[in-house]
Amino acid sequence: MKNTEISLHIPPLMWQQLRRSMIDARTHHEETIGFLFCDRDKVSTDRLRYLPKTWVVPAPDCYELQSISGLVLKQDFHQYLIDSFLSDCQLDVVHLHTHAGTDFPEFSAVDDRYESEYARFLDTQFKAQPHLISGVFDESLQHGQFRIWNRQGTEFKPVTFYNSLLELPSIVRSSQPHSSFQTRSLSGVEMNPTPLVSTSLNQRWGDRPSIEVEMSRFSADEFDLNLENNSIAPHLPSPDPMFARQTIFGATAQQQLGQLTVALIGCGGIGSIFAETLGRLGVKNWILVDPDRLQTVNLNRMPAATAEMVAGGLHKVDYLEHLIDRIYPTVASVTAIPDVIANVTADIAAADLIVVATDNHSSRQITQEIALKYMRPLVCLGTHIDVKSDGTPRMYARVTVPPLGGGWCLMCGNIINLQRAALESAPAAIDLMATKAGYLDGVNDPAVFWLNGIAASTGVGVIHGMVSGFVDVDAGIDWIYEFPNHQWHKTNPEHLHTADCYFCSQPSSY
Ligand SMILES: [Zn+2]
Ligand SMILES: [Zn+2]
Repeated sequence: MKNTEISLHIPPLMWQQLRRSMIDARTHHEETIGFLFCDRDKVSTDRLRYLPKTWVVPAPDCYELQSISGLVLKQDFHQYLIDSFLSDCQLDVVHLHTHAGTDFPEFSAVDDRYESEYARFLDTQFKAQPHLISGVFDESLQHGQFRIWNRQGTEFKPVTFYNSLLELPSIVRSSQPHSSFQTRSLSGVEMNPTPLVSTSLNQRWGDRPSIEVEMSRFSADEFDLNLENNSIAPHLPSPDPMFARQTIFGATAQQQLGQLTVALIGCGGIGSIFAETLGRLGVKNWILVDPDRLQTVNLNRMPAATAEMVAGGLHKVDYLEHLIDRIYPTVASVTAIPDVIANVTADIAAADLIVVATDNHSSRQITQEIALKYMRPLVCLGTHIDVKSDGTPRMYARVTVPPLGGGWCLMCGNIINLQRAALESAPAAIDLMATKAGYLDGVNDPAVFWLNGIAASTGVGVIHGMVSGFVDVDAGIDWIYEFPNHQWHKTNPEHLHTADCYFCSQPSSY
């Protein structure tokens, strides 16, 4: 893992809950500890992400000793962790503990010793050889850092920490100034500071090291969150005159839009307007997925599409690549994949953000499953037109962003219909029968440019808000525009929350 960039991505809601539980697990300034159990996602040869599947914060009665100078957990609690999360699961382990005070904390010598021993313990006692990531935070869990140990427990390296929606460096959100930051590089740091108080290693568990940490205190001026020695921190380039009229949103947001890679599933009526709009806002890197070719019936709602393109049998992804290349003739990076989503999971999973704008339920379901498995933010765009019994049309545009890491999703939130999804993925003959029986939306659904434009533009606005921090999507959003009533309906995310969804059930604390 020498040159691999390693990151730990805790979704915002999970981080909020974990943080609250750890703060609640003490009375005054005692240290607390939390555990996360993670899947490993090898994004590329030089990028590895750890994605928490569940977390546990011991209640005060799980401690044998809990003080401002250190803590020792009861043996049966440690056994519970082992039985529940390590014996049968292939999960990696995160130990996150606090030090008293609000200064930027540093790992202490006792942390080093204990964690080194625990890394070896994990390596030798479990077949799956779980990795150990450790974190130390101040008592309010505002400042901190993570590191990962090698199997032998002899070396560690820093881990980039994300607790935001997108894995972008240096997002500063006005509502939560500390919501996203990275660990500083450990190079050149004094690694053997003298702790004020230190407890000895507890050896009573035989070959199992105890879970034990202690407090140490350092001067605050030594540490500068987010900036120092950080090779990933962006160097802001001189402003691009193309974006002169949107500098009000900040140079950082503009640069992050330029770094973002967006996977767009569905390059039809909504997807094309969406790509054109988000492209103009500053997104240059795209993964486009759609198996279809342009048809004459698409010409009423796809910008700059021509009859010649239809005659030439152009794939929708190639048409859309052409749109993006028109905006960025030299710097765009577009991967156009004329295929169904089920065949391109790996490509989608590597994107920073997934947008689905297809006209069927089955592809939306697959996209949601990928977004959940690889913990990528998902934006779902759709429109619907029908006609009331008195002959007047009703039109809807819908933008849905399920929360990162679960809580509710397109399936349990009923944003898509599983029965329809199942029918759509059935063989063509059954599909046809179902269509005849009226179960399926088909390509003949009514659709107009302007209504698609509302869904696409609002989706772009939400993404702009995610990056700039002016839209809070931590709990997810589901917005529905109704025309001609011209009303926006906002579904309360609390009503969408589902405790036992097969797809997205969220982990809970001990
Ligand atoms: Zn410590
Ligand atoms: Zn769900």
